[in-house]
Amino acid sequence: MILSGKDLASRLKENMRLYVKDLEEVTGTTPHLAVIIVGNNPASQSYVKGKSKACEEVGIRNTTITLPEDVTERELIQTISGLNLDPDVHGILVQLPLPAYIDEHRVMNCISSRKDVDGFHPANVDALYTSKYTGTIPCTPKGIIHLLRDANIDIAGKNAVVIGRSNIVGLPVAKLLLDENATVTICHSKTQNLKDITSKADILVVAIGKAKFVTEDMVKPGAVVIDVGVNRVDGKLVGDVDFNTVKDKASYITPVPGGVGPMTIECLLENTIYCFTLQYF
Ligand code: NAP
Repeated sequence: MILSGKDLASRLKENMRLYVKDLEEVTGTTPHLAVIIVGNNPASQSYVKGKSKACEEVGIRNTTITLPEDVTERELIQTISGLNLDPDVHGILVQLPLPAYIDEHRVMNCISSRKDVDGFHPANVDALYTSKYTGTIPCTPKGIIHLLRDANIDIAGKNAVVIGRSNIVGLPVAKLLLDENATVTICHSKTQNLKDITSKADILVVAIGKAKFVTEDMVKPGAVVIDVGVNRVDGKLVGDVDFNTVKDKASYITPVPGGVGPMTIECLLENTIYCFTLQYF
């Protein structure tokens, strides 16, 4: 069965549009997301356009600030500081990647934790890893949990394997699965006998960035397979999972495109609204 993030995101966005209207009635204003993009990387531009379009669909105001490729770290941080102080900006997103000479970590830490729609600020990371859930949660992992819950997939007690240990996807999704009471194994590039581990997974989350890396022989029959990967091959988007061979073996599988990607954007909208409510209520 296909786990369509596109369908779920579209359903959730309809509710969100109504919620934003209600918020406007109560507060007299609507959430406002500021997106900073550095340079003219086509992939980043396309992601930013997608986010802007999604904001418009639900009535979230959004402003894109484009800074030149050679912007200094100081100038970038000054821009963020201005947005932190602006009471009419409720969420701030810096589109990654940044040019190599800029310290990404330092820049992200400059975003106010209350406007951090990505969930990367140390205060929000702390809230996640201490299970307090008092801050924003990174969008992609949050979207994956929404997908599993919406399909009524049992997570508690299941064997969940996450391939990838990035701060953006692998680690936070592992933490969220653990909080859903899965038994979680995290694999990475130094993991030995990967296939032995993945083929015991009831839930397999793949976030490595290698086209069609997970093949049918690595998947347990009936497993739930979540493909986070986005790779461009011959001008087409493909995931980290070899969809055509794995789909018949899995009970559920997310397609690429149309799986995790739309849910990431949907959770960005959720986080923007959450940041707005933090500032108003
Ligand atoms: P990343 O920071 O590059 O991390 C990749 C992870 O994969 C690392 O932990 C790495 O291990 C592991 N890895 C690499 N090769 C491996 C191998 N042969 N066997 C096992 N593990 C291996 O990537 P990311 O930011 O997490 O993103 C992963 C993918 O998801 C990318 O394709 C990205 O474009 C996509 N993505 C999609 C969305 C979405 O909304 N759909 C959102 C975010 C990311 P080490 O730690 O040992 O190096």
